[in-house]
Amino acid sequence: MKAKFSHVLMLLGGLLAFVPILSVDFALDAYVRSKETAALQTRMDALSAEINYNANNAVSVLRKVVADSPSFCTPTFTGIAQAAIENSYNVKQILVENMDGVQYCDAFGRGVSHSPLSTSLPVPGLTETITVVKFADMTMPALKVTQTLGGVRRISAFVPLMATTEESLVENLPQGAMIDIALTSGTPVLSLGESMDFDRSVNRQDYLAVQSYAGELPIKVRYLLPFAEARAGYADLDVVFTLLSCVGSAMLLLVTLAYARRSRTPSFDLERAIGRNEIKPYYQPVINLRTGGLVGCEVLCRWEKPNGEIVPPGVFIDYAENSGMAIPMTLSLMQQVRYDLSELAQKMPGLKISINLFEGHFRDVGIVDDVQAIFGNSPISYDQLVFEITERRPLENSTAVNSVISGLHALGAKIAMDDAGTGHSNLAYIATLGVDVIKIDRVFVDMVKPGTTQVAVLDGLISMAANLGCEIVAEGVETEAQAVYLRSRGVVQAQGYIFAPALKVGAFKELALALQSVPLGYGDAPDASEIVTDAA
Ligand code: CA
Ligand code: CA
Repeated sequence: MKAKFSHVLMLLGGLLAFVPILSVDFALDAYVRSKETAALQTRMDALSAEINYNANNAVSVLRKVVADSPSFCTPTFTGIAQAAIENSYNVKQILVENMDGVQYCDAFGRGVSHSPLSTSLPVPGLTETITVVKFADMTMPALKVTQTLGGVRRISAFVPLMATTEESLVENLPQGAMIDIALTSGTPVLSLGESMDFDRSVNRQDYLAVQSYAGELPIKVRYLLPFAEARAGYADLDVVFTLLSCVGSAMLLLVTLAYARRSRTPSFDLERAIGRNEIKPYYQPVINLRTGGLVGCEVLCRWEKPNGEIVPPGVFIDYAENSGMAIPMTLSLMQQVRYDLSELAQKMPGLKISINLFEGHFRDVGIVDDVQAIFGNSPISYDQLVFEITERRPLENSTAVNSVISGLHALGAKIAMDDAGTGHSNLAYIATLGVDVIKIDRVFVDMVKPGTTQVAVLDGLISMAANLGCEIVAEGVETEAQAVYLRSRGVVQAQGYIFAPALKVGAFKELALALQSVPLGYGDAPDASEIVTDAA
């Protein structure tokens, strides 16, 4: 069976080898298509993440106002509502009305003129409903987040859909492109640029089409770009591709032969790789933005195959998690970390070592025993350890989850919320989990471009983390503009390519010792008073 299969592959590969010469244009088109589609997807994901974040922030603000107010429409209530609006970065108004929409009072006592663009929509996981509205003094549509009070009155908070203005969205739109925000039911919310039917254009070869959903909200963001517009930026590549295609044909023939040989051995044997310690820890430095000193590191991993090939984690992490191999893999990594960093941890008592955990680790308390067995009698003390939980796959608030977290806390280790802002968690969720550190996802850091003076959604995340009393680590910092921006917002800790990629243990230790003259500055998380929220 197997031999036959590889013969077929070889034959196919041999035929395919001549394709590059015949299809330069086709290859270049495919290259532009996939590269530009991925870039557009990232941009639309950032927009829809912002809408989702804005709505969730309004929910939190509204809940706090309701919890803090002994009664409604009294001067005390107005004061509480005004303070909540002032402290939030995006809530514009708070309104109390009866079920027919007769207004009783609002935060500023001037009435709220707005018209609905949708019916009031339920959101999975929330008791609040959301209505898309046109708010009197804004061109950007707004979200009206509503809580019902005892079935007779309702209270609502208003937030703009996005911090950007319609004008600046239009300005950045290429010729012939369309950006369109709509409810998942199809009801249009905002449509800018060319007016086209997205569903009819989505399979057309002359357009690039992407769409993204705003978390659990029934809102989608869609973008259409004429392919010719994207392709125009790649004219220089035509010549290069013609040359490369000749080389490509020759290479493909070689690869086909190599593949036929290699396919006789199992190509994906993660279990054996873990047993042989081929999954190696790599250490990405976390830097103090104020002092330039080293705070610690995040333990990442690479698969170093015996033939010298280095496989990045993206290729095998999902497989590891789904096959249950993530647990022995983490165990092997922790053992190697103890071996690699014992000496350094003793020299630098403030050094923090951050280790990624997976959803599987929270099904029983085994991980707490493992941490104890590995680090219990080592020079690395528990309070030098931080365990990261990703927000991409929110954990249930179950007994098992809570006992793992309290077990790790009892040892003295800290818990970090990884990839914060990408999931659907709100304030209450993070607070109940007992998180000490919030790691802001790179998507939000990436919104800071050179010359950016304010990124409301990033500022919101930072002030949310500070209000929870959590330490903040910014991830994926790649430019000086981003580092400067984060520092100006009171963020002290950061990791990313601008400082260093994930390093092998030797290089990481060298860097750590070189930075040792710079004082450690881990503990000083910014407090709310340090956060600069205006653009000044
Ligand atoms: Ca992580
Ligand atoms: Ca992360």
